[in-house]
Amino acid sequence: MPRFERKRNVFRNKDALGESYRPERIEERDEEIEAYMDALQPVVDGWEPNNIFLYGNTGVGKTAVTDYLLDVLKDDVEQYDDVDLSVIRLNCKTLNSSYQVAVEMVNTLRPEGAEISSTGYPQQTVFKKLYEELEVLGGTVLIVLDEIDSIGDRDELLYELPRAQSNDYLEETRVGLIGISNDFKFREQLDPRVQDTLCERELQFPPYDAQELTNILESRAAVAISDDGYESGVLNFCAALAARDSGSARQALDLLRLAGEVAENADADRIREDHVERARSKLEQERVEEGMRELTVHGRLALLAVISKAAKGETPCRTKKLYHEYESLCSSSGTDALAQRSVHNHLSDLRMLGILSAEENRSGSRGNYYSYELDVPFTSAVEAMGDALHLDEEIEVIREIARRNDVA
Ligand code: ADP
Ligand code: MG
Repeated sequence: MPRFERKRNVFRNKDALGESYRPERIEERDEEIEAYMDALQPVVDGWEPNNIFLYGNTGVGKTAVTDYLLDVLKDDVEQYDDVDLSVIRLNCKTLNSSYQVAVEMVNTLRPEGAEISSTGYPQQTVFKKLYEELEVLGGTVLIVLDEIDSIGDRDELLYELPRAQSNDYLEETRVGLIGISNDFKFREQLDPRVQDTLCERELQFPPYDAQELTNILESRAAVAISDDGYESGVLNFCAALAARDSGSARQALDLLRLAGEVAENADADRIREDHVERARSKLEQERVEEGMRELTVHGRLALLAVISKAAKGETPCRTKKLYHEYESLCSSSGTDALAQRSVHNHLSDLRMLGILSAEENRSGSRGNYYSYELDVPFTSAVEAMGDALHLDEEIEVIREIARRNDVA
């Protein structure tokens, strides 16, 4: 008997639930698509393109809708001989300055073997090379800069590119920028002159609600999951969980994919709600672990202080008491404790990471103070602690206390 055997009871095409899959249909974005089309209309009419700034939380369809619409646009303008449209797409996630984006663009446009190195040129030289390549293309060039927020305030390119024609750097080519950002604050930190040009047209994608996510999941499940591969209620459940948390289609799809894996590993014929529940806690744990990898030793100790209080059923717990707990954990692990102020900062970072939540209490004349509690399941938080702190015994004690107090 072979040791590996195919398990294909749940998925029909699992890749359709993956990150690189491009859906054929876009659900629930009619209004946004209409506004987007309106912003792109000058391309069809043969005028100078608008610059477009598109923002919204992660997973709300910014990339999917952009890919879809630009494909449609490319097809539809073919009927007009005087429109010569090229589209350049770039994900800026790993590029953290205008310089790097410009180099990447030059290299996308150049043939293989003619790439330039990503260091060593003055910025203006790279921009010049970019203009040369764009000029070779001619016509209208739409440049999609996805996850543009990662360039931070090193935004010179966003100033230069839209002005290239009026500054005589480009003669034949008309450039339109489409900047996509997960972070609305990015817009505010831009140079005001950049804001004026880049945000000529501004499009916002709001989070999805549960009903919208259900429809997105239904249309994807039809491609990805076998007939009868899930119990009724499963898609609604995934949609409801994601809607409550982030309104992200990515989160909903991740939940469904992971639930399918859980079901397959359990040799179940179809996905059930308890598989979704398991998938949810796995994803949550991954999120905590990801956040925790970034934590310093003291960040972890501050978190462990909250975990320890949670085990005793004493959360939400105010910072002062947490600080005492933290101090005692420091001494058990042979680490020098930081001042209370720094521990506050760590707690507030943990809150930003979504690992803790805080409430502000008023205490009359003495001003306000914060109380913290875990914003993730207790078990996920303890699991994610790992053994990096050399506090195995203490963590075991905390687990024991939690068991006695029925904290899960
Ligand atoms: P963003 O770029 O906003 O972070 P994506 O466009 O990558 O989000 O969407 C995340 C996932 O959800 C992708 O797999 C995408 O195909 C899917 N998706 C998002 N919105 C829709 C939609 N309206 N219809 C169908 N699939 C969608
Ligand atoms: Mg995206």
